[in-house]
Amino acid sequence: MRASTYPLVDAAEAAELVLARTPVLPAETLHLADCPGRVAAEDVVAPVDLPAFAASAVDGYAIRSADGGGRLHVVGESAAGRPFTGELPAGTAARILTGGVLPAGADTVVMVEDVEQGPDWVVVPEGQQAGRNFHRPGDDLRRGDVLVRRGHALGAAELGLAAAVGLATLPVHRRPRVALMSTGDELVEVGRTPGPGQITDSNRWALLAALREAGAEVTLLGVAPDQPEPLRALVVDALEGHDALVTSGGVSVGTHDLVKPLLESLGEVHLGRVRLRPGKPFTFATLPGGRLAFGLPGFPVSSLVTFEVFVRPALRRMQGCAAVQRPTLPVRLGYEARSSVDRTEYQRVTLTREGGDLVARSTGSQSSSRLLSLAGAHALVRVPPGDGGLAAGSVVDAIVLALPD
Ligand code: AMP
Ligand code: MG
Repeated sequence: MRASTYPLVDAAEAAELVLARTPVLPAETLHLADCPGRVAAEDVVAPVDLPAFAASAVDGYAIRSADGGGRLHVVGESAAGRPFTGELPAGTAARILTGGVLPAGADTVVMVEDVEQGPDWVVVPEGQQAGRNFHRPGDDLRRGDVLVRRGHALGAAELGLAAAVGLATLPVHRRPRVALMSTGDELVEVGRTPGPGQITDSNRWALLAALREAGAEVTLLGVAPDQPEPLRALVVDALEGHDALVTSGGVSVGTHDLVKPLLESLGEVHLGRVRLRPGKPFTFATLPGGRLAFGLPGFPVSSLVTFEVFVRPALRRMQGCAAVQRPTLPVRLGYEARSSVDRTEYQRVTLTREGGDLVARSTGSQSSSRLLSLAGAHALVRVPPGDGGLAAGSVVDAIVLALPD
C-alpha cells in the first residue's frame, strides 16, 4: 500500500472541473427516424404556418353566414385531401368533412348534428355566425415560431411538430461513444459460478444501464485483469473510436490499483481523490484527441454514485443538453442525516407524499457495497461535510432520480 499523492478535492469543485473539461460533441443531421432522444443542436424554427389552410374541425356543412339559416342547396363536398373547387355560390352549402378545406366564399361550418339533410339540400338553423368550427391558417403555429429550443431533447411531441411543418431531418448532437471496462482479477462473467474469492462482475451491467439512460452508445470491453500490460493494451485499443472511457475498480491505493498510473501515462489526471462519500477514489483524466476517462471506484454503490455526480452530467454536456443536472425538489427529512466529517455524502432515500410534502427516508444501510440502498431509491440527499448533519424534519433540496408512484 502507498499513500495517495492526489489532493482531496471538494465534491462540488470536482464536478465543476469535470464539466469545464468536457467538450460538446459536433452536430450531425439525422432523419427523424433516428432522432428520438437526441438533443437539438440549433433552435428548430417552423418554415410554414400550421394549419396551412382553413381546415374544418368537424363533419358538417360549409356555408356563408350572410345567408343566415334555412334550406340551402348542396353543391359539392370538401373532404380531407379532396378540396371543393371554385367558390361557394351564395345561397348554397358544401358538405365538409374533418380536415377538409373551407371552400372560398364560405366563412363558417355547421356541425352535421345540428342540421337536417336531404340528398342535395340541407336545412341549417337560423342565426349562423361566421368563424365557427374551423381552424384558421396559423392557429396552431406561425412561420418563424420556435418548435424546439437548442439543447432540448427531441421527444414525441417535438418530432411530431417537426414532421408536421415538413422538416424531414434535424440538426442534433452526436451521442457520446463510451467504452466500458471492469477491472479486477476477482471478477467472473455473470452466470458463471464464482470460484473461491471470486465475485460476479455486476458493475458492467449497472453502468451499461446508467450509460444508456444518459444517452451514450456503449461498447462493452469486458473485464481487464489487474496487470499493467493487458490493462494498457485493452485501454489503448479501446480509445480509438470512442469519446470516453469508463472503468470500474482499480482506483484506490492498493498495489493492484493500476488505473491511475495508466491514465497518467496516457494523458493528464485532473482528479484522483474527491471529498465524496461514497466515491472518494474517483479519478478523472483527459486523454489525447479530446477524450475523457472516468475511473470509477469498484464498490457497486460508489461506482453508480460517482457516475451520477460526475459522468452523467458530462455525457449530457457532450450531447449538448441545456440542463445537465437532474432536477431537484424540496423534501422533508424523515430521518436524521448524519454527516461525514470531511466528505459530502450522497444518501439514498425513498420519497413518499405526506400531506403536501415529499418525505425522504433512508433506504437503510448506506454501505458502499450494498446496492440495495440504491435500488428503488427515489432521490439522493446531499449531506454537507462537518459535524452538523441534517436534522429530522428539516427541508432540503434532493436530487430526484424517480418520483414515487
Ligand atoms: P477496487 O476499487 O478495485 O478495489 O474494488 C473494490 C471492491 O469493489 C472489490 O473488492 C469488489 O468487492 C467490488 N468490485 C470491483 N469491481 C466490481 C465489479 N465489476 N462488479 C462488482 N463489484 C466489483
Ligand atoms: Mg480491483
